[in-house]
Amino acid sequence: MAQIYWTHEELLADVERRAQSVEVLGHTVNGSPLVVARGGGDKLPAIFITAGSHSTEQAGVSAAVACIDELETDHQVHVIPTRDPVGMQGFAHVLSLGLGTTPTIDSFDHVETILRDGEVLFEEDDLTLSLIGEYGYASARPGSGRACPQYYFYQRLQRLASEQPEAIAPLRGRRVWMTPGQTGVAGTGDFGRAYTLIISLEGEILHINRFHDTPWSPVEPRGTRDLMARIRPGISFDLHESQLMDDRYFLSARRQPDPTNEEWEQKAATAIIQAISASGAELARDEDVSALGNWFDTSEPGACWLDATKRGEGFNLMDFASRTYGLAFGTEMGMFGTFDGRVDLAMTTVRTAVEVFSQRYA
Ligand SMILES: [Zn+2]
Repeated sequence: MAQIYWTHEELLADVERRAQSVEVLGHTVNGSPLVVARGGGDKLPAIFITAGSHSTEQAGVSAAVACIDELETDHQVHVIPTRDPVGMQGFAHVLSLGLGTTPTIDSFDHVETILRDGEVLFEEDDLTLSLIGEYGYASARPGSGRACPQYYFYQRLQRLASEQPEAIAPLRGRRVWMTPGQTGVAGTGDFGRAYTLIISLEGEILHINRFHDTPWSPVEPRGTRDLMARIRPGISFDLHESQLMDDRYFLSARRQPDPTNEEWEQKAATAIIQAISASGAELARDEDVSALGNWFDTSEPGACWLDATKRGEGFNLMDFASRTYGLAFGTEMGMFGTFDGRVDLAMTTVRTAVEVFSQRYA
């Protein structure tokens, strides 16, 4: 059984137990350390594995922790198990940072009542946005016909930012925590995590998997960037999940500027898709992926190539890794699979790609 971590403390305890060494890269707003753990051997180029920039996607986090001591390779392994140590602790925890006291949350009615006691910036039937202390909060009620409330409300807040920039202005440079509303998703649920949005200084609604190539950056992407500059990973993984995929999987690969890297990226992508298919898991259909946006090209079922220039919002971590360091893969496990199944798919992805990567340097 894969472990689900509900607090950063219990995650850190397991990371310490598994790692050869643990290094602190910085501290985030609740005082929690952003850590990197060492596993693997001494061989270079290094392997970099990370997850949890979207704290609602916890199977990736559990898989990243397992990779610290369960991934068999001679290469150096560097794991940042979660890039959002705050959001993973849930909505009551993030409210405590603005309120100074930790509430017990049992319903969206209750969350909205708490948010109305703050400075309400925007309110409409299912969305309340308010400022409490230094932080923004959004209560985003899941509703019928919304396969993924997190994505739906993310896009809705982006529209609000462009249509009513004055409503968002007090949040510039701040964090906004949103209720996940992932009813029925193991490891998250309605309030078990908080989805962390970062509002850029220009008022753009972004999140922790951005700001990898920007002068101003929150501590989590900045610490990640600094680590990567030191280890210069030959292959990088960012383990994500998607509620929109139901229980289906897709691989998010990146075109490589270097032709040799491109050849190995393609080889690894094909091997990953074969291994995922052989495990009996279902691959995402083209229409699943195109529902996310028009920035993916599909080379084979389940293997999707993300073009960040079509998406906008700057580079995410794997966009940045592919342009700067080498091979880069994101996973997207469907969040309505079992938690163990989701963790297995992430582990299969990493193990398979690392086998191909090792052949290159054998
Ligand atoms: Zn994600």
